[in-house]
Amino acid sequence: MQNDNLPNLVNADSISDNEKEWCGPFTFVQAADTQLGLIDRYLLNIDNFKWEKEKALCRESIRRINAMEPKPKFYIICGDMLDAFPYEGQSTATRKKQYADFVDIFKTLDPEIRLLCVCGNHDIGDIPTPEAAKLYRSQFGQDYFAFCYGGVLFVVLNSQYFMCPDAMPDETAKQLEFIDKLALINPKPKHIVIFQHIPFFLQHPDEGNFDYFNIEKELRLQLLDKLYNLGARYIFCGHYHGNCGGFYKDMEQVVTTAIGAPLHNDPSGFRIVNVFDDRLSHEFVPFFASLSQQKDNNFMPL
Ligand SMILES: [Zn+2]
Repeated sequence: MQNDNLPNLVNADSISDNEKEWCGPFTFVQAADTQLGLIDRYLLNIDNFKWEKEKALCRESIRRINAMEPKPKFYIICGDMLDAFPYEGQSTATRKKQYADFVDIFKTLDPEIRLLCVCGNHDIGDIPTPEAAKLYRSQFGQDYFAFCYGGVLFVVLNSQYFMCPDAMPDETAKQLEFIDKLALINPKPKHIVIFQHIPFFLQHPDEGNFDYFNIEKELRLQLLDKLYNLGARYIFCGHYHGNCGGFYKDMEQVVTTAIGAPLHNDPSGFRIVNVFDDRLSHEFVPFFASLSQQKDNNFMPL
């Protein structure tokens, strides 16, 4: 299904068979939490909040990505594209405006660079509902799917079904089945890379439960094991609004800070990921020399 609003958007139906072969190294850009509205509403506590700062930061990301040579294959936003929740009376109108602005900005992404969106807690609700899922799918496409690029299998998951497995139990079960079926993919991919919004863990797979910022430990370890056995060796996430991550066995989990509101030590930015025959390498690209420089500039790009 083509998304009329976001012509570059890749989702479940845009997978093409000819991308299953390895054709040499390539690059993609991973980012998270454009979250239009969070800086004014939460960081600056402005009652009549707007999202001009996030709009400028999103434009900055696109300016930099459009200028990359060679072009990255895609730009993936690992969740929380917008800040307003999809189901709270008042916030519905705000979300509509935020979506319209998001669409306007992301239309300017170079047509050769595909756009991918991952479902975050602000996109489907901390407690997901069927209505919110339906709205999300109409605006951003499927909330969990897999696609191949250059012989690599990329798997987009909806971490809200892990955070809140009882809210929509049918979807929780379907997503787990979907992961299991990926084992049948033929030919065997060069790499398997996972994207989701909420990290399984922030620093260590054995860390405790932080309620909001990681997946509950027992389920976390089961899922990490499942993904490891599938052959995944890289997981990219967002949600923390700071850079962090760690390893489960030799599977790396990378948490990338926000394009929008910086809530920890890192300024806004994105991550460039290079895919090689035998490994992936990645480098965070900050939009500012430091967080204080970003704050001094009222969070806006220089
Ligand atoms: Zn989030």
